[in-house]
Amino acid sequence: MSQPRIPLFFAGARQDAHSTRTSPVYHPASGTVAAQVPLGDATDIEAVIADAAAAATAWGERSPLDRARIMFKWRELCLLHADELARLISSEHGKVTSDARGELQRGLEVVEFAVGIPHLMKGEFSDQVSRGIDMHSLRQPLGVVAAITPFNFPAMVPLWMLGPALACGNAVILKPSERDPSTGVRLAELFVEAGAPPGVLNVLHGDAEAVNALCTDPRIQAVSFVGSTPIAQHVYETSAKHGKRVQAMGGAKNHLVVLPDADLDMTVEGLMGSAYGSAGERCMAISVAVVVGDATADALVARLADRVKALRVGDSAAEGMDMGPLVTGVHRDKIKGYIDLGVQEGATLVVDGRMHPAQASGGFFLGGSLFDHVTKDMTIYREEIFGPVLCVVRVESAAEAIDLCNKHQYGNGVAIFTRSGSAAREFAHQVQCGMVGINVPIPVPLAMYSFGGWKASAFGDHNQHGMDGVRFYTKLKTVTTRWPQSVDAASFSMPVLR
Ligand code: NAD
Repeated sequence: MSQPRIPLFFAGARQDAHSTRTSPVYHPASGTVAAQVPLGDATDIEAVIADAAAAATAWGERSPLDRARIMFKWRELCLLHADELARLISSEHGKVTSDARGELQRGLEVVEFAVGIPHLMKGEFSDQVSRGIDMHSLRQPLGVVAAITPFNFPAMVPLWMLGPALACGNAVILKPSERDPSTGVRLAELFVEAGAPPGVLNVLHGDAEAVNALCTDPRIQAVSFVGSTPIAQHVYETSAKHGKRVQAMGGAKNHLVVLPDADLDMTVEGLMGSAYGSAGERCMAISVAVVVGDATADALVARLADRVKALRVGDSAAEGMDMGPLVTGVHRDKIKGYIDLGVQEGATLVVDGRMHPAQASGGFFLGGSLFDHVTKDMTIYREEIFGPVLCVVRVESAAEAIDLCNKHQYGNGVAIFTRSGSAAREFAHQVQCGMVGINVPIPVPLAMYSFGGWKASAFGDHNQHGMDGVRFYTKLKTVTTRWPQSVDAASFSMPVLR
């Protein structure tokens, strides 16, 4: 039986791609191929870019309030279809449906922030900066922008970008992950249903060919990327070389530091959800617990071991599951390979999730794995695994814990669990990461703040959403005005205050 072909979205409607190159989209819980996604070719890329370019000016000329009303309606429609969207996310990604609802909610919070665009885009005005002269600044949309997103949040990460980009008056080309491409198409369809003109939000599917075209085409003014670090770096360099504004978020290895005075119950709960939620496929997942002191580490590992063995792993659509499958068989095998490597490197595999009864369905399942006695030179510590694997590293002091975090190549999120305000304050001040949690394991900033890491976790200087999002998707213009009553003689020296 031929598999369904996922459409592109442009000119306000679903469109069959011209390309004959395709990639399989799986139903990870059964391991079967559910559909084929076309990998956009030159004809598809041109159709989508031309459509966005034709729509951008008129959309940018609309009043911000007019755009905000459409965004408001879009949010309403997404909520109305929340169950359907959550099922769509789960069916292609594999995360449990309650988690999919959560990511949709966090994404829609960015749209809620963006409906404030009439206020957010306001410029500044200074009366009488010099005699008879006023000055004001204003923000204008860029034109056409590209949003290139990873598989792990098929709704939330696109909405981080679409919210501010569209509200600011840009036309957007979304290039979702080829592993779970359907949610982006549905979001675009609902945007048109909300009253947006055709061409303002388009969806192009594809791989390197489509991404490289978006990073080089002169009609595209800015590129927002989220994905793995090597691709983030490639997108950053290519887009910048072609004169574009670019923000490129990369991978992570988020540490959670446990001080000896931490509440162990709270720490265990925090670690379980943040390490194993969404099967560890979150850029803010905690993948390293840095425990100060052997007594604390022994107590923590013993309690974690019982909890990891008891994780409920199964079909994402079933009630009461903690973890669904991994996104693809290739990704599951990569994670298994890291667990094999950790054993070879000499770490203690306290809980081995490589075999799990849920695998009988043919789905891409792993159980939770827990490593103790991981050291900083091991590959399983240095590299991002992006699966349900938690590594415990033992250190002797809080200062050593901070040093460990700071020397890691990634600097996305980090957390500390302690009862000491001064230790927490010192940690937050010293640690070299973009997002810090104090007794909060996954410190994802809310929509009105901005999301972004440091070091190899982000390239470019504007973070996602919050006021950084508004700045990224607009150009700043500053206007100096005077209406003189008489003609001043030409001045050949630098103008100064009068
Ligand atoms: P990925 O880098 O494989 O893919 C991301 C995007 O890049 C996709 O749209 C994909 O089609 C495209 N792409 C893939 N290979 C390419 C190539 N050779 N040339 C050009 N484009 C290419 O990432 P992924 O596996 O989909 O997502 C997981 C990664 O994303 C993890 O590393 C995770 O930490 C990271 N992530 C980071 C954040 C953050 O905000 N820092 C958020 C979510 C995910």
